[in-house]
Amino acid sequence: MSRKEVGPMALYRAGSPPRAQAGPLRVALLGATGSIGRQAVELALRYPDRLRIVAVSARSRVKELAHLVDLLAGEGGEPPAVALGDEKSVAEAAGQPLLRRKLLAPGAAGLREAAALPEADCVLNALVGAAGLEPTLVALESGKRLALANKESLVVGGLLVRDALVRGGGEVIPVDSEHSAIAQCLSGRDPGEVESVILTASGGPFRTLAATELRRVTLESVLRHPTWEMGPKITVDSATLMNKGLEIIEAHYLFDMPYDDIQVVIHPSSVIHSLVCFQDGAVMAQLGAPDMKVPLLFALAGERHWHLPTRRLDLVGLGSLHFEAPDADRFPCLRLAREAGRLGGRAPIVLNAANEIAVAALLAARIRYVDIASVIERTLESVPSAAVADLEEALAADRLARETASAFLD
Ligand code: NAD
Ligand code: MG
Repeated sequence: MSRKEVGPMALYRAGSPPRAQAGPLRVALLGATGSIGRQAVELALRYPDRLRIVAVSARSRVKELAHLVDLLAGEGGEPPAVALGDEKSVAEAAGQPLLRRKLLAPGAAGLREAAALPEADCVLNALVGAAGLEPTLVALESGKRLALANKESLVVGGLLVRDALVRGGGEVIPVDSEHSAIAQCLSGRDPGEVESVILTASGGPFRTLAATELRRVTLESVLRHPTWEMGPKITVDSATLMNKGLEIIEAHYLFDMPYDDIQVVIHPSSVIHSLVCFQDGAVMAQLGAPDMKVPLLFALAGERHWHLPTRRLDLVGLGSLHFEAPDADRFPCLRLAREAGRLGGRAPIVLNAANEIAVAALLAARIRYVDIASVIERTLESVPSAAVADLEEALAADRLARETASAFLD
């Protein structure tokens, strides 16, 4: 069966499952100590004959990484190559027998090495933030299968990722649950059959709060997500709905969908992971109990459904499915992201950088929840729009936006 593109410029190609795999899939896992990273390690331990992790990275948590590597190496097994965020962590790792076997360069250079590792078939990018863009580009330029959790790669460099895919001949499989759902609904379909997509959003912990109450929410309540357990940054993004904003841009590039044809609906139980609407009014949805291991394994398995003993969906227990329109006044990040996506060029880079700065400031208890949107809006207004030709220009815009946003924190 031939592979088809959803839109002519789509990063994700629907159709037959990717390349047949002889032997276990050899995976370079970027961001091994994170929420997605640890779940990937769990899956690799569950399927030792089918998944083998050949490289791991972590910014600084060397002890945690050593524990994961110990689990992965097992009895006398070959430990994976190790990339760490800085010289200090590399020095610490050099003192650990399992980590020092194959230490890569510190920082961005090590991530580039891991993303291009000849002994890896697949790169799982589970980094958080714009730091994920360069490894995404390197993986695709090296012709790898890219299982992409790091949505910021596409927000910051969607067009660059497209160029890298064309140049290197790699392939992109989404890990984000909404985009995995859309990919599953597109299986076997022709691009011309699709009319629009609907991304579902839980609505986060503040779905029902009034605007005045949002001004007083605590950091602790921001971090209490109703349906998903994730890393701190995406948890904050889910509370502001910026996560859904970033996912609109992610869907635009993955499926070559015009922004007008990407809708968002609030669906608090997170059981429907997203939907595809076809030209005749038919709608396909993908459902399941919320568990990131499902879309993660689907991507690693080459878009196949392997047996996984997750909590099964209980429709009768659930009783009903509830939907609401998102409230753009209470959750301005959704509008800011859609506008920045439409503008293109530097705008989505600035949106993402300002968001990263604001989220870090919230996590450090320097600003309030409601300040996040205003820091982003002021940064977008302050950094003039411009086209972005290459990675250097993207990284320069990212730096400028971070400096500008930081000045709005005090
Ligand atoms: P996390 O914060 O739990 O983990 C991030 C990982 O990246 C850690 O291993 C950390 O050491 C590493 N890292 C962070 N900054 C780095 C840097 N500057 N350089 C090198 N390494 C760095 O994050 P997460 O929740 O696992 O999310 C990872 C990505 O997956 C994000 O883009 C997120 O939006 C996406 N995602 C996550 C979930 C989820 O359930 N956690 C769901 C959908 C999508
Ligand atoms: Mg998601």
